[in-house]
Amino acid sequence: MSVPPTVPDPSSLPAAPPPTPRQALYALGLATATVLALVVLGHDGRRVAQLMALALPALLWLAWPVRSDAVHRLRTAAVWLWAMAFALDGAARAYLLNAYQAAPDSALVLSAAANTTGRESAEYLSMHWRSVAVWCGALACAGLLVGRSARRGLRTSARWPRWSIALLCGLLLLSALGYASKPWRRLHPVAYWLHWNASVNGLRSGWSDLEKQRSAALERARVAAPALTRTGPSTVVLVVTDSINRDNMGLYGYARPTTPRLQAQQQLLGTEMAVLRNAWSVDASTLPAMGNLFGFGQPGRADGQHLIALARAAGYKTWWMSNHDDVAIEQQHARMADVVDMVNRTPGRSGASLDGELLDCVQEALEDPAERKLIVVHLMGAHPHYRLRFPSGDNPFEDHADAVDAQLTGQGRSAWVRRYRQQYDAALLYNDFVVAETLQLARNAGRTDGYRAWMYLSDHGQEVGHGSDRAGHSPSTASGYRIPALIWRNEAAQPVSAAMQLRPFRADWAAWTLADLLHIDWAGALPERNVLDDRYRWVAPTLPVAVPSFFD
Ligand SMILES: [Zn+2]
Repeated sequence: MSVPPTVPDPSSLPAAPPPTPRQALYALGLATATVLALVVLGHDGRRVAQLMALALPALLWLAWPVRSDAVHRLRTAAVWLWAMAFALDGAARAYLLNAYQAAPDSALVLSAAANTTGRESAEYLSMHWRSVAVWCGALACAGLLVGRSARRGLRTSARWPRWSIALLCGLLLLSALGYASKPWRRLHPVAYWLHWNASVNGLRSGWSDLEKQRSAALERARVAAPALTRTGPSTVVLVVTDSINRDNMGLYGYARPTTPRLQAQQQLLGTEMAVLRNAWSVDASTLPAMGNLFGFGQPGRADGQHLIALARAAGYKTWWMSNHDDVAIEQQHARMADVVDMVNRTPGRSGASLDGELLDCVQEALEDPAERKLIVVHLMGAHPHYRLRFPSGDNPFEDHADAVDAQLTGQGRSAWVRRYRQQYDAALLYNDFVVAETLQLARNAGRTDGYRAWMYLSDHGQEVGHGSDRAGHSPSTASGYRIPALIWRNEAAQPVSAAMQLRPFRADWAAWTLADLLHIDWAGALPERNVLDDRYRWVAPTLPVAVPSFFD
């Protein structure tokens, strides 16, 4: 949020005659209406009434005769600050509701706030400044209206009709009730946002050392005693990318040639490679998506398994190499591996470190003499800001009037969304290079005897003018969940069939498929969640957005 307008200084204004009781009442009404307008946008139902009851005492002060200039000035400032706290609260909630269908204390918003650096916030603002500006504009107007009203509080005593005194007492009683009730007074913006800030800090410090949880997960995996169903050397490469929507991949039928290299690999590999046509994430942001992916769709369960811990317990040497510098991911997942390589030293996702920087690490890991290897590669993919995700100046789609651009124009998408789409597609083209290179390496680098497998998927999708005139993470549109998922194996029980590729796939079940790629069997295995297994049984996930069909 922007800096709110400064408190108007009444001393700098020309001396005006003190307001008449009618004018003071009018000012009180205007201030109340302004606060109400923003409270209604950010809250609903009973909450609106509760918030207004909490806001009332300061507003009603305007109907109290204040003769002293000093007290009057104090009242003006106090009423303004008080009213603006409610207005700011309403605007912030309305913004989050509008952009993410989420409350400030939802896991989505709390974890994003805890996991965001100053630089990332600046980057976020540079991308979303339009809608932020609209809300700041609304707040500035509210600030002016409330400031004007606050200066017009009653200065001389007046005789109020009996009914209005009764009404006043009734309102004050209601407000007193609100302040007496703990859950109610917690809604006061100051109390609420202080508590919010404490939750964010608590979350962040909870991530600072998850050593204990990690050892517990490794111990659980050891107790589960996973067995290998195949002997001999085995290498599995898992490439998890960020914010890639399959609708923008040529491989999935997109009109712009964004995946020439993966398509060439597909041609070459034929039925060794599965392109899962109907792949879905069940989360629209990184942290929960990664939790589900590595936690078998049940992260945080006391008896739950972690894929890397399970692989280690089964005798795999594990690597985690990443172009993210993300403390939560590092603590929850990366440090579970034997070898951790974080190439990006810029905290957050503002860094311009390109994913290609990881390729040397992938090669090095593949050349490691270990018999069984699980190599996890965590890419930045097309995470905003899109223009940081490909080599500078390397955008073949820039200012290119093609069919995609014409379609977006036809759908009424703004020029800035269309420009983001061009950058996004350039990021996908670069991602294609990196991902195809990891596949190439998985096939050919290091020891080439024995079994090798490679899987590629995105943590979640991205909205870039697909379903709405917006760009970014999108819990509220299907585009936020549409991901690619590809699997290659140099030897499989049976070749990939067309029917298998059409099976809908959910990323929170991916660990069951990966356990199969690793040839790990244990008591908790669920073949009905492994998309490669004939016993696979699809169950549609419940997403925050209605999806007409998961088969598309
Ligand atoms: Zn992500």
